[in-house]
Amino acid sequence: MLANSLVELDRNHLIHPVASWRGHEQAGMRLLTHGQGAWVRDGEGRELIDGFAGLWCVNAGYGQPSVVEAATRQMTELCYATGYFGLGSEPAVRLAARLAEAAPGDLDHVYFTLGGSDAVDSTIRFVRYYWHARGLPQKQHFISVEQGYHGSSTAGAGLTALSAFHEGFGVPYDWQHRIPTHDLYRNPVGDDPQAVIEASRSALMAKVEDLGGAEHVAAFYVEPIQGSGGILVPPAGWMAAMRELCAELDILFIADEVITAFGRTGPLFACADEGIVPDFITTAKGLTSGYVPMGAVFMSDHVYQVIADGAGQAAVGHGQTYSAHPVSAAVGLAVLDLYQGGLLENGRIMGERLQAGLASLSDHPLVGDVRGRGMLAAIELVTDKKTKARIPAAAQPATRIFDRAWDQGLVLRAFGWGVLGYAPPLCCTTDDIDQIVARTKKVLDLTL
Ligand code: PLP
Repeated sequence: MLANSLVELDRNHLIHPVASWRGHEQAGMRLLTHGQGAWVRDGEGRELIDGFAGLWCVNAGYGQPSVVEAATRQMTELCYATGYFGLGSEPAVRLAARLAEAAPGDLDHVYFTLGGSDAVDSTIRFVRYYWHARGLPQKQHFISVEQGYHGSSTAGAGLTALSAFHEGFGVPYDWQHRIPTHDLYRNPVGDDPQAVIEASRSALMAKVEDLGGAEHVAAFYVEPIQGSGGILVPPAGWMAAMRELCAELDILFIADEVITAFGRTGPLFACADEGIVPDFITTAKGLTSGYVPMGAVFMSDHVYQVIADGAGQAAVGHGQTYSAHPVSAAVGLAVLDLYQGGLLENGRIMGERLQAGLASLSDHPLVGDVRGRGMLAAIELVTDKKTKARIPAAAQPATRIFDRAWDQGLVLRAFGWGVLGYAPPLCCTTDDIDQIVARTKKVLDLTL
């Protein structure tokens, strides 16, 4: 009864993010009531393994007592402290320092946000301020990658290169541009890693030329692995090649690690896999493992110094009431303790098992491609392995595949164009991973 009335209340009053509003009115919501480790329980008492860690965010797993305790203690001692007026709180300072210590290279300065979209949005403002402070305000253009996702803020949605975030919203703006994706499975230049890297380098150079040269280009945005675009992994060396090109051209390089940071691909930062140091890194999700909202912008020292010198004694006018919220920071510290106290290591081991397990499904007639790194993976479904013909959305809509997995006790992400996405909590056991693979096999068989 309670669940039914909640479904009605939800239908009538709660607007869901990135949802078909009419579709949702018809389908109604599914209620989640509990979570423990890598498992969640729905409103009907069904236990499901969460193969997507909520929205690729509950990296530490549900119900971690040390995280709950840290939040409770901080709420009791000091529920809020502003960062305005030169004030602050101990957890925020300690978290910034520990993150700076762990981040690659000279990414020594941290600006806390409420999530990923405003982390990206903050970088857009910082980038503009930086070029202005360097006396180069004509560097106005921003470039991102097709299939990229950089949130849905007013400006960030224009860097996102997925049509649902553009149509009807008036973005991208005329200062926002894209180059083709590095997708290895469906790349017009084929699947040779070197050819794909060369194609992306040439595309970026051509785009910069089109925009009147690097003196008009402010920044290039990438995800180390494209997430919402279908979990597209660039060839090894792609990130390093693009980073090098941006450095040569004096274009700021921003790695959007909202999904990939905090153990999702193995290390705390995926950029570490490539040995690169971006000018900015954006993060959120795993930073607080979804227990409370928080994002973080990592700013390199050379960018920080230019902005600080440019502003002099004037305020850099960017900030939010909840930046560096002490409860979120306390949670961030507790989660970081878990990562560094063995969870990253467990995630690495489980990530290898996940990749191997999903790869073992490659022979299934519907599986065109299996890809990923660490605890981030995808299976791309096709009706013909040779032609790579996609599963027709009308025959197997994403919602039906999602429902089928749910019935098998598995939460996964079903992308509309026939991609199954996986991002389980790093605390998974070997049995959890084996269950994800076995249940996926059942879903595939039922989809045949
Ligand atoms: N950037 C990337 C790479 C993301 O994957 C996301 C969210 O999935 C965002 C930015 C936006 O983060 P949020 O949803 O916390 O605003």
